[in-house]
Amino acid sequence: MAAAEDRFGLSSWRGEFVDAVMEADYRLHTAESAARDLRLALWVWIALLILLSVLDYRLFGIAASEFVVISSRVLLVTGLLILIYRSRRNPALASAGYAVTGLEIAGFFSFFLLYFSHPGTIIYTIVISLLMLVAVFVVIPNRVIPATVAALFASFGTMYCAYLLNATETTNLYLMTFLLSSSLVGYLASRRQHLTQRRQFALLRETEIINRRLNAEIEQRKLLEKELKQQAITDPLTGLYNRRHFESLFEHELRRAARKKAQLCLCLVDLDHFKRVNDEHGHETGDRVLQHAAKLFVDSLRKADVLGRIGGEEFVLLLPDTRPEAARQLVERLRHGLAVERLRVGEADIGITATFAISVVDAEQDSLASALRAADKALYDGKGAGRNCVILAER
Ligand code: GH3
Ligand code: MG
Ligand code: MG
Repeated sequence: MAAAEDRFGLSSWRGEFVDAVMEADYRLHTAESAARDLRLALWVWIALLILLSVLDYRLFGIAASEFVVISSRVLLVTGLLILIYRSRRNPALASAGYAVTGLEIAGFFSFFLLYFSHPGTIIYTIVISLLMLVAVFVVIPNRVIPATVAALFASFGTMYCAYLLNATETTNLYLMTFLLSSSLVGYLASRRQHLTQRRQFALLRETEIINRRLNAEIEQRKLLEKELKQQAITDPLTGLYNRRHFESLFEHELRRAARKKAQLCLCLVDLDHFKRVNDEHGHETGDRVLQHAAKLFVDSLRKADVLGRIGGEEFVLLLPDTRPEAARQLVERLRHGLAVERLRVGEADIGITATFAISVVDAEQDSLASALRAADKALYDGKGAGRNCVILAER
């Protein structure tokens, strides 16, 4: 069968996907609209049957020979109504094709009865048969092979009826040519339509897959970009802002303070005797202490406060809209919090303190450098005064 497949995995003679899963997906996708088209075609079919019955009644009255024809039509209409009703609840009935093929075969069978009940109208009956053949392929939604089976039943059935009615050899030959060529043309047209629709469906699915892949890639890139941005502004050890980003946040706060005439305080923090921690417990434990201090500070700060790590064991804190006295209270809380919160690393129980230097920023005059210079000087004094204290820089 491989030779009959195209790039979408379609079997060209069946007019369907070779892969059962893909075919089921297609039928599910088209079931609703196929069921709607089918119901319309079935209503038209019922209307034509009623019209035909009225005509028969006008022409032949209610003769005993009509009984079988009428009964078969009543049965057929019942079957059609059931399919109409069922296909509303279960649209898959329409796209599977079996129910409609069964009804088509029943319809042709009921139609064959006319050859025997109204032998005088054979030529009209044959013309209507040809129209019905076209309808099987073009009007009534069905799969290619089931529709072809119904059409072949109609063709051979009609030929057999002609044979039973002792038609001439010429009539039989013409009939065979007509019926079989109509079936062939119908098969080819239906096959083409089914292949085109399935190709479009396969393209749709391909596009969906490509879109999903693209979206996933875009999401991943966004995530990566976010991560890179985060990496560019933070210190990997503590997760605090790095010096460069702190600088830009400081500039922003400085401009805001100048514009709003708001108070702005800066605080330089330096861990006390940190070298000893490294020397006594190792560099790795030193790192843990830095993370510990950073977390303690972050947890006790307000939302608007900005904390950065600007050196080995040096942190800097920016306190917007904060008067010096309030800054001192806040920083005192940080100092006390750090001093009392001991850190256990393995066997070691480490106590750590820090010296804090607050510098009140003059939004009109100061720069980060000048504010840090003042704080640095105060920090030096704090270290000299015995460490573990908060010093307000003189300006
Ligand atoms: P002081 O109380 O005077 O500030 O003393 P100190 O020991 O804290 O100051 P000093 O400047 O002499 O030493 C700072 C130490 O911080 C030196 C350096 O090894 C250590 N350090 C700097 N960056 C890191 C780091 O990222 N991790 C660790 N574990 N140690 C660091
Ligand atoms: Mg230092
Ligand atoms: Mg230090």
